[in-house]
Amino acid sequence: MKKIIIATNNLGKLKEIKEILQGYEILSLKDVNCQVEVIEDQDTFEGNSLKKAKEISEMLHMPCIADDSGLCIDVFDGWPGVYTARFLGENTTAKQRNTYILEKMKELEGEKRKARVKCCIAYYENGNYVIGKGEIQGWIAKEARGDNGFGFDEIFELEDGRTYAELSAQEKNKISHRKLALQDLLKKMRNHI
Ligand code: IMP
Repeated sequence: MKKIIIATNNLGKLKEIKEILQGYEILSLKDVNCQVEVIEDQDTFEGNSLKKAKEISEMLHMPCIADDSGLCIDVFDGWPGVYTARFLGENTTAKQRNTYILEKMKELEGEKRKARVKCCIAYYENGNYVIGKGEIQGWIAKEARGDNGFGFDEIFELEDGRTYAELSAQEKNKISHRKLALQDLLKKMRNHI
């Protein structure tokens, strides 16, 4: 069975990826004793996911998959986008960032609260690569709601009015931006790799 490194130690992501990429042996960075930290300094999700997959694949001489996701708010031309984790600086919590966004948008109503969450997942092997993309459209909630999840989950509201953090992990994994990107990646891997 073909071995693929996933450039993460996040157990939730690993589980999601293993469920979809059946037929491959999926290994985490921990499984191969790799502690490298790739700097995400590109200005697109595609660029960051590809940079991570390429650097780790070339270092370990194995195929590698890496992802990059973020929250993009329409009225701010896609901000915070690739800066979702660090637009207030490197050492801030998701709670602080979510509170900042809610405060910044407190006067905005309806369509002006539109946002999307995006994910790119790159597969890199021997100079060849494909990138899967997934996106979900929704809104920035008026206040944080829900206790499940992480990151921006508590402020990202879906079509049905619930936030990502009000879904169970199983419900989120069925419809998430990452799931859509993984499905797209698998299709492209079958066609091009
Ligand atoms: P990364 O792509 O996993 O490095 O994540 C970039 C930023 O997006 C971090 O602040 C994460 O917490 C956030 N993020 C990524 N995926 C999700 C998600 O599914 N829900 C909420 N926040 C997420």
